[in-house]
Amino acid sequence: MQLYNTLSAEERARLIDEAGQERLTLSFYAYAKIEDPKKFRDDLFIAWNALDALGRIYVAHEGINAQMSVPAENFDAFRETLEVYDFMKGIRLNVAVEQDNHSFLKLTIKVRNKIVADGLNDKTFDVTNKGIHLKAKEFNSLLEDPNTIVVDFRNHYESEVGHFEGAITPDVENFRESLPIINEQLQDYKEDKNLLMYCTGGIRCEKASAYFKHQGFKNVYQLEGGIIEYTRQIKEEGIESKFIGKNFVFDHRLGERITDDIISQCHQCGKPCDNHTNCANDACHLLFIQCDECKAAMENCCSTECQETIHLPWEEQVAKRKGLQVGNKIFRKGKSEALKFKKSGNLPDKPLAKAETKDIRHKIKVKKTLVGKAEHYFSKSKIAQFLIENNGLSVGDKVLISGPTTGEQEITVEKIFVNGGFSDSAKVGDQITFELPFRVRLSDKLYKIDQN
Ligand SMILES: [Zn+2]
Ligand SMILES: [Zn+2]
Repeated sequence: MQLYNTLSAEERARLIDEAGQERLTLSFYAYAKIEDPKKFRDDLFIAWNALDALGRIYVAHEGINAQMSVPAENFDAFRETLEVYDFMKGIRLNVAVEQDNHSFLKLTIKVRNKIVADGLNDKTFDVTNKGIHLKAKEFNSLLEDPNTIVVDFRNHYESEVGHFEGAITPDVENFRESLPIINEQLQDYKEDKNLLMYCTGGIRCEKASAYFKHQGFKNVYQLEGGIIEYTRQIKEEGIESKFIGKNFVFDHRLGERITDDIISQCHQCGKPCDNHTNCANDACHLLFIQCDECKAAMENCCSTECQETIHLPWEEQVAKRKGLQVGNKIFRKGKSEALKFKKSGNLPDKPLAKAETKDIRHKIKVKKTLVGKAEHYFSKSKIAQFLIENNGLSVGDKVLISGPTTGEQEITVEKIFVNGGFSDSAKVGDQITFELPFRVRLSDKLYKIDQN
C-alpha cells in the first residue's frame, strides 16, 4: 500500500496541468483526542491519495491542522473522508478566495507532538476555556469600541503585507514568541479592556485565547475562522473590510489580496509593493518582498552575493551549500542586511498605494496582438515554453503574458530558442522557449505589444 508520495513536484504540476481540472485550495483544523496519530495519519493518506488531494497536514494526539488542494469534483467525497470521524462532523472548510491549481504539489501528512507550535504546557491551564468567537460583523463592531485592543497573532512577515486597522503587530518570527510579549505588553489592561485576537485561519487563537484568560484577561474575543473566514463573510454579506492589504498564506501563492491597498514596500527599492518571494539562490531562499523591477534587475535574488552565486556552475553552488542549514527555508525570517526597506513591529495603517486594477483605458491605449499560448514552465531552469499560433515573434519584442493565476506580466524577449536552437524570430507553428523569471501556467496567453 502506498503511504508516501511517488511523484516529484514537477511531475505533479505537469499532471495537474494536463488533467485541466479545477482544484480548490482549502484549510481546516480540529482539536480532538486522537489515540493513535500514526494510524490516523496512514488512514488519511490512503483516503486522500485516492482522491488526488494534496497538501501539508499535521496530526497529533490533540487533533489535525491541514492546508490542502483538492480537485473541485472530489470536494464532496473529500468531505466524506472527514465526516467518518465524529470530531470532524460538519467541520468548516476554509476555501481560499483566489484559486491556484498549483497551491500544493505533494501530499505530506506529518505526525507531530502538537498541531500548532505554541510552546504552551497544556497541562497548566484549561484549554477548553476559550475566548468568545466572533463573526465578521461582530468583530467589526468590537473593533470600533475604544475599549478594545486588537492583536495580530501572526508573524512579522504576515502582518507586514496586511492587517486589521489599529492592530498591534508583534515583531516575531513565530507564534510561540508572541504569547509572552503580548502578555507583558498588556499587563495593565487585563481587567477592563477587550482583548480582540485574530490569526490566519483561527487555529492559533483557539488555544491562545484560553491561555490569556488563564493569565487574567477578563474579556477575550477571537475572530472565528480567522482572516480567511472573515474575508468570505464580508464578500458574501457585503460588509466593509477592516482588514487592509493582503492575507499571507502558507502555500506557494504567498498571499491573497483582500483589499487593493498596498501597505508594505519592496525591501530593495522602497517602492510600494506587497509581493513576497523567495531568493532564487537555493542556499539562501530568504523570504522577502520584491517588486517586478528589482526582480528583473536582481534576477529574483535578495543580494548581489546571491546573484553571483546563481551564476556559478551548478556543482560549485552545491559545494557552497554543503553543510549550510536551510531548514524551514520557505518561511525563514526575512531579515537580511541587504534589505533596507524591511519593516516590522509598528506597522502603518495608511496604504502607500493602490494595487493596479485593470484599467480599461490603458488596455485600449496599448495595442497587443495574440501570438500564442504557454505550454510548459520548467521551474528549475526558469524557462517557459510557448506555441506560436498567430503572427510571429522576434528578439527584442515586448510581450505581455496573461492568465488567471499569472496575472498580466510584461517582459522584453532577449533570446529565443526555436524548435531547439537559437533564432532571431519565430513563426506560426514554432515551439519556442525562453527564460522567464516567473512561472507561467498551461494556456496562459502570449501577446506581442505594439511599442508606439
Ligand atoms: Zn524594488
Ligand atoms: Zn539570497
